[in-house]
Amino acid sequence: MIRVEKLNKSFGDLHVLKDIDLKVNESDVVVLIGASGSGKSTLLRCLNFLEIKNSGNIIIEGEQIEKETHNLNKVRERVGMVFQHFNLFPHKTVLENVIEAPVQVKKMRQSEAEEIGKELLNKVGLGDKNNEYPSKLSGGQKQRVAIARALAMNPDVMLFDEPTSALDPELVGEVLATMKELGEEGMTMVVVTHEMGFAREVGDWVVYMHDGKIVETGKPSDIFDNPKEERTQAFLNSVL
Ligand code: ADP
Ligand code: MG
Repeated sequence: MIRVEKLNKSFGDLHVLKDIDLKVNESDVVVLIGASGSGKSTLLRCLNFLEIKNSGNIIIEGEQIEKETHNLNKVRERVGMVFQHFNLFPHKTVLENVIEAPVQVKKMRQSEAEEIGKELLNKVGLGDKNNEYPSKLSGGQKQRVAIARALAMNPDVMLFDEPTSALDPELVGEVLATMKELGEEGMTMVVVTHEMGFAREVGDWVVYMHDGKIVETGKPSDIFDNPKEERTQAFLNSVL
């Protein structure tokens, strides 16, 4: 589904991603872990072409994507993203938020978009909130709306950048449960999170990043119980 080869990204003199190689197969849930500043968000943003690489290859569903040859907006329709801050439109209802992109970008009929939007809101457990405004929702509910909104574009891959980091602790579980369900339904997902329980339980693969490099990749049980690299061990000791 995604193949990254020798990806490099710098901001000015700051070399943030260093020869990143990564493979994500269809229906995989890949969990990216690592200290703050290690380059996790930049990697996700490169996968969604919100940042443009300096060198290397990004291959999405077998197609090497280059900004010169591809319409990146079209590519982004296939690669959905959910952010730490949900960025819902405050003056639109929950359902209007969810159908905005399908109607405006995909030119879907309003009635069809509404039908799909309602279904997705049901799926994330917010079937009774269609006509609410975001200000009336908890953080966990807002984030579930953001997930439904991303799903409304019918992406092939979903990227999550610390989707629960801005939430009060008691609201984290409902968002992780929604993500877990999505993974179990076969959605291909790349998830940056500090929720190690989620990484262990839901991840097919765990990727540990340090200082712009992938230090170690493995099954959750290998990474958490039997890390090969000292750095991985040190990081896990600091967070577990
Ligand atoms: P993480 O998500 O793992 O915390 P980031 O990918 O956000 O790490 O950041 C990696 C490094 O790149 C950090 O040193 C950060 O300050 C820097 N960085 C990220 N985005 C930008 C940017 N737009 N301009 C300059 N530096 C950036
Ligand atoms: Mg980040």
